[in-house]
Amino acid sequence: MRLVVVSNRVTIPDRHEKAMAGGLAVALREALEQRGGLWFGWSGAIGEVSPTQVRQVERGNVTYAVTDLSEAERQSYYLGFSNRALWPLMHYRLGLTEFQRGDYMGYLGVNRRFARALAGLIRPDDLIWIHDYHLIPLAAELRRRGISNRIGYFHHIPWPAAEVVGALPFSATLIRTMAAHDLVGMQTEIDARNLVDGLISLCGARSDGRHVRLGGRRTAVQSFPIGIDVEGFRRLAAASVRKATTPLRATRVSLGERKLVISVDRLDYSKGIVPRLEAFGQFLRNHPEERGRVSLLQVAPPSRSDVPEYAELDRQSDEVAGRLNAQLGEFDWTPIRVVKKAYSRKALAGFYRRAQVGLVTPMRDGMNLVAKEYIAAQDPADPGVLVLSRFAGAAQQLGEALIVNPFDSQEVAEAIRTALAMPKTERIRRFEQLYAIISATDIGWWTRRYLAALAGEGATLPTGEATSAPRAGPRRIAAATRRKRDAAEPSSLTMIQS
Ligand code: UDP
Repeated sequence: MRLVVVSNRVTIPDRHEKAMAGGLAVALREALEQRGGLWFGWSGAIGEVSPTQVRQVERGNVTYAVTDLSEAERQSYYLGFSNRALWPLMHYRLGLTEFQRGDYMGYLGVNRRFARALAGLIRPDDLIWIHDYHLIPLAAELRRRGISNRIGYFHHIPWPAAEVVGALPFSATLIRTMAAHDLVGMQTEIDARNLVDGLISLCGARSDGRHVRLGGRRTAVQSFPIGIDVEGFRRLAAASVRKATTPLRATRVSLGERKLVISVDRLDYSKGIVPRLEAFGQFLRNHPEERGRVSLLQVAPPSRSDVPEYAELDRQSDEVAGRLNAQLGEFDWTPIRVVKKAYSRKALAGFYRRAQVGLVTPMRDGMNLVAKEYIAAQDPADPGVLVLSRFAGAAQQLGEALIVNPFDSQEVAEAIRTALAMPKTERIRRFEQLYAIISATDIGWWTRRYLAALAGEGATLPTGEATSAPRAGPRRIAAATRRKRDAAEPSSLTMIQS
């Protein structure tokens, strides 16, 4: 069975690209190479497009088929409906949700156009795997064109409660298109339950808990918590100790013996960057003895800067960091460094390894891969501590992190303190449990498990199986650590899409 992957953005790999890096994009590429296949989506470019204009590039047994967007489509489909309506809505930010009928029409129009172009490329026994909230109605459009292949969808971001989804105009029409899939994958059990509830209450679907019946179709809804290339990150981090990257060397010099708290996020309001900076300030006020002994490094590469809410966040984060540094800093100590540029995985792995605390406090997040990368990068003999928002999908798996409510700055401040003071034995105990979980559910596991379910091989795992933590233990960790996988300088699909 050939595999067809569809995602909002597609990056055609360089012909001479040798060392591929870990992450979702690579895992999907590997799955395509194993079976032979097609990857379809937006090229990332803007052009004058005719509706069926598709560029095809062959790389081995994989065909990349991409289409440009027109400027009007970019505005309505991408910036408008996807980024200003769906993204905030799905992250429970109704106040930021901007609905324009014209944007919605543009969104449906691009999905229709993609379906028309893709339908001509599909073979009868292809397995179709759609990614991204930009493409929710694509399967329904393919069905209208007579495509009866098995079609799966994976939703990388949260799926909110039906009451929230229902606030979106035309939500019932939009979400009922989810029933055009054979399998819908969500990051967590909560997301899966929310979708099933929404289909029942907004669209009149029937459900036995695992399947939804709507419009004569039966759709499986399950959680598949996405993983990372654990072994790849572990190796990159270990290598950073032997041979530091330039940014890490500079950090060592400027920090000296001071402790480091690390946060890494796209500059996005869902990530809770501003409340986190405030919480770090709160921690330094609560514990004056810690001043001068620890710094926060916030890596925050800009994203979606042509959406106004993002430009405002850019300004706010500068202002808050500037104010706190002015109020709390010393001539020889800067409490907070905010760096608004993207770093390679190699550089990030080095930062994670150097940091005593990984501070991951999104207000809402589908999974949050940074939380898992931080764990993967730790020194097993002297690991750091993960402080994790209960509203990140990762918290459903990583219960041995210090779980916090990011809306409570005092709680986050005290968790930073607890993390910095935690005895080594407890740090090791927590790390071993967390590492065992992330390595048992890494990106390869996720891809295999989703594709097996989509192909109908054991498609109905009992509810909860996806998120239940395997039992931890040093032997398990050692075994997981021994598994070999390539890693170098990738970008995850999530970064590419953003
Ligand atoms: N990332 C990166 N360089 C940076 C900042 C982030 O490569 O400077 C990567 C990071 O390692 C992670 C991804 O971007 O793999 C972010 O994924 P996450 O799930 O945390 O958030 P998203 O951006 O998808 O919402």
